[in-house]
Amino acid sequence: MLRMDGFVYRHASSWEEALALWRSAPGAQYVAGGTDLLPNLKHGLFAPKLLVGIGGIPGGVRREADGIVISAATRLDDLAADPTIRELLAPLGQAAALVASPQIRTMATLGGNVMLDTRCMYYNQTLFWRQALGYCLKAEGTWCHVVGGPKTCVASQSSDTVPVLLALGARLRLVGPEGRRELGIRELYQYNGMDHLRLTAGELLTEVVVPAPGAGFRGSYTKLRTRDSIDFPQLGLAVCGQWEGSTPRALEIVVGAVSPQPKLVRGLDAFLGAPLDDVAVAAIADLVHKQTRPQGSVHGDSNWRRQMAAVFTRRALGAMRG
Ligand SMILES: Cc1cc2nc3c(=O)[nH]c(=O)nc-3n(C[C@H](O)[C@H](O)[C@H](O)COP(=O)(O)OP(=O)(O)OC[C@H]3O[C@@H](n4cnc5c(N)ncnc54)[C@H](O)[C@@H]3O)c2cc1C
Ligand code: SF4
Repeated sequence: MLRMDGFVYRHASSWEEALALWRSAPGAQYVAGGTDLLPNLKHGLFAPKLLVGIGGIPGGVRREADGIVISAATRLDDLAADPTIRELLAPLGQAAALVASPQIRTMATLGGNVMLDTRCMYYNQTLFWRQALGYCLKAEGTWCHVVGGPKTCVASQSSDTVPVLLALGARLRLVGPEGRRELGIRELYQYNGMDHLRLTAGELLTEVVVPAPGAGFRGSYTKLRTRDSIDFPQLGLAVCGQWEGSTPRALEIVVGAVSPQPKLVRGLDAFLGAPLDDVAVAAIADLVHKQTRPQGSVHGDSNWRRQMAAVFTRRALGAMRG
């Protein structure tokens, strides 16, 4: 049996209360659904003295002038089933419905998915396992077993909803010890597996705001994993755009689960304004292949994962152009 170190648990019923509890013991950690945090505590990856429970804060989706506003406390199951999400943001619901397993999705929140710690097959292991290997740079060690060096950690950002939220240009509403602020989700992640979130200590994600997609919106999320019933992504590909028939007017592609930072594919503007024929689809797939460099922190051959990014792109664009 895997045991956790002792800690105090305090329940918060609002974001403000959660922040006040955190202030009482900086170094405390927030726990929403607990589906990632609790296994990490059992693996001895960290041992906070205080856990501030935010899973009881109301979730939900509403429309505002800014766009579609989703509470960070929304459970992934509720997100996938929400009528506004299904009508306007289908790829986000699709990604939420592909996270883990049904049991986990009833507990897991959108906030926890966005703030998910980076993952690595040398890190997300029991204390005994990691000790036998001499630990690693991200926890208690001095060496990265993936890159074979003492400096860089390339553990992967492996959330399914994140590539879609980047492709949709979502904004995050945050509250922290220094007040409230809004941050584009594209600014949140940095290429450092040990410290991949550009946040200040104690900051909470309260809401995710997604601009309402205009007419002609089409999008999809495709996930590569070994067992469809439960596994984390070995690669996730979001494609979102505005279309007029087979002509894209706007196009965004984001690849997830390849590195600490989701990869926003560059150079797609060259394909806007003309019908997307087979040559253009192949050229975009080639662009995605060139820009995708999966790190070996996640299971599955890196070259295979890279090839699959191109295959998923071809399939997604092929279906989307009609
Ligand atoms: C077997 C298994 C399979 C899984 N498969 C997948 C998968 O396929 N895809 C996937 O994306 N995930 C997967 N997960 C991970 C996890 O279930 C999800 O990412 C889930 O969305 C995390 O949400 P949570 O509410 O449970 O987060 P928690 O575990 O409660 O928290 C995760 C982290 O986010 C922080 N946090 C939570 N909410 C906030 C907030 N509002 N503001 C600031 N920080 C916050 C916590 O402090 C913690 O550091 C899997 C987990 C398990 C155990
Ligand atoms: S990428 Fe390297 S340093 Fe980071 S968790 Fe994996 S083995 Fe550890």
